[in-house]
Amino acid sequence: MYDVIVIGSGPAGLTAAIYASRDKLRALVVAGATWGGQLMLTKEVENFPGFKEGILGPDLMYNMLKQAEGFGAEMIFGDATAVDFSSRPFKVTVGSKVYEGKSVIIATGASPKWLGLESETRLRGRGVSVCATCDAAFFQDKKVMVVGGGDTAMEEALVLSKFAKEVKVIHRRDKLRASKILQERAFKDPKIEFVWNSTVQEILGKDRVEGVRLRKVDSKEEFELECDGVFIAVGYKPNTEIFKGQIELDQAGYVVAEDTTKTSVEGVFVAGDAQDYRYRQAVMAAGAGCKSAMDAEKYLQGLKDDSCVLPKRKRHA
Ligand code: NAP
Repeated sequence: MYDVIVIGSGPAGLTAAIYASRDKLRALVVAGATWGGQLMLTKEVENFPGFKEGILGPDLMYNMLKQAEGFGAEMIFGDATAVDFSSRPFKVTVGSKVYEGKSVIIATGASPKWLGLESETRLRGRGVSVCATCDAAFFQDKKVMVVGGGDTAMEEALVLSKFAKEVKVIHRRDKLRASKILQERAFKDPKIEFVWNSTVQEILGKDRVEGVRLRKVDSKEEFELECDGVFIAVGYKPNTEIFKGQIELDQAGYVVAEDTTKTSVEGVFVAGDAQDYRYRQAVMAAGAGCKSAMDAEKYLQGLKDDSCVLPKRKRHA
């Protein structure tokens, strides 16, 4: 019987495991068959506090894993295939084994959607990215494309315009899905141009991105544009399939949470991108992992939430 079972091993899950095991909770991390989350696909991470020269994504995750193990967290490198939160202890199935926990922290993250092109997979990390906040600085004075027409695409384009000399947004329709405010900001930005009614057929380049081959949706006419980077921003999918019917999820599949960590089942907590579609940053996920472990510990002690609430301070005018 574990005090806490953490499902997921990105920054949220491993930070939750570090906090829980350091607080002497018996913690099990169901790390996944491919552990470490999205940072395992990133090269240099330059915006995680504490690493002034930057750090490779896989190195950062390896350090977190070892730190959690150092405090006694146990790891299973397999995928959780089912959960049962209908009775206590909670049950988490990994292959043919069932693990029992007094509490659970869901930290399964979200996966960026991809276009599904062979060239996109081949050039990932070589000019193809899904995170402008992570990678925009590598495209100083370069030409980049953003694919998509939603909020994420607009945000990616706006981040990139601070670095790149030219940003083209490729959208498959002639209207954006993004919120008006983000649309307006993007339209006003002199570096951002739009390529409407077009889809990406291929990302060009052998070892690094050199351009894209696009196709007009109506005429099917194909044409090429040169660029150094392609940012795919066609949405995210939270990795929450196994929780359907067990806890409340929103329409898009994100975990609905009160106070950012508490799910609809008492004793089941959530941290990171499985709940947070807005910030999607490693440091935010790590912070949420810390919160979820502290909330789980409080739950295990049977403490009320307000047990450490400080008296309200007067605000100065
Ligand atoms: P989204 O709203 O689902 O938009 C995805 C975009 O990609 C759409 O424009 C879609 O085109 C396009 N697309 C999808 N599949 C494609 C494909 N195979 N080829 C080409 N284009 C494709 O996803 P999102 O922008 O990631 O936003 C997800 C949620 O997070 C939304 O609720 C959003 O409001 C929220 N969010 C909020 C903020 C914020 O408040 N600051 C920031 C980011 C995200 P169509 O338009 O033709 O369908």
